[in-house]
Amino acid sequence: MVVGVRCVVAVDGPSGSGKSTVSRRLAAALSAGYLDTGAMYRAVTWAVLQAGVEPGDADAVAKVAEETDLETGTDPGDPHIRANGVNVDAEIRGPEVTAAVSAVAAVPAVRNLLVARQRELIERSVRVVVEGRDIGTVVAPDADLKVYLTASAAERARRRSAELAADLDATAVDLARRDRLDSTRAADPLQQAEDAVVLDSTELGIDEVVARLREMLVARGVA
Ligand code: C5P
Repeated sequence: MVVGVRCVVAVDGPSGSGKSTVSRRLAAALSAGYLDTGAMYRAVTWAVLQAGVEPGDADAVAKVAEETDLETGTDPGDPHIRANGVNVDAEIRGPEVTAAVSAVAAVPAVRNLLVARQRELIERSVRVVVEGRDIGTVVAPDADLKVYLTASAAERARRRSAELAADLDATAVDLARRDRLDSTRAADPLQQAEDAVVLDSTELGIDEVVARLREMLVARGVA
């Protein structure tokens, strides 16, 4: 491993593509930090719901986002997130937050705020794997490696429903809804960066994806 060399890896893709597992495993293998930007959007959404604000009310949502104190952990072995001093690791994965997060994440003021915080966290880390929807395109366009991870809709729904012990059909409908909202919003939609490496985890499997990414980083002299 090349120690001390700056290394930023951007991992983007739709829900259930394996981004979180791949990013955490890769970060651990590289002794790098791990930044889950989806958890930040989810934590702001939790604060919006706690405040009784309607997720479609952009001005009120932006105000809550500005007032929310987020503490985002970057340990790939034990990632945590706190909002206004409260650990919200479990709450942000619940159905209420999942149903509202795409509306909150579509508010441009929320994105500006969180993108600035994400850039600060990246700047502070020497080595970091960052996962999200707009990392290679907006947050870290100069990343050393950009990955666009995908998988078939059926496989993504299967994984998510197993993870959440949720009904498969309902999960498939929810994923399709979020994919549509995340890909069609005006501000920083889910998009593949032109220079991203595209990997399909339906065909490859998570271990193989991590192994391939490590090889690419070694070939680029940053791992
Ligand atoms: O990755 P995860 O499913 O936790 O992300 C939750 C939601 O946060 C996504 O559906 C998307 O609306 C939003 N998000 C985003 N930009 C990111 C990360 C997540 O808009 N970089």
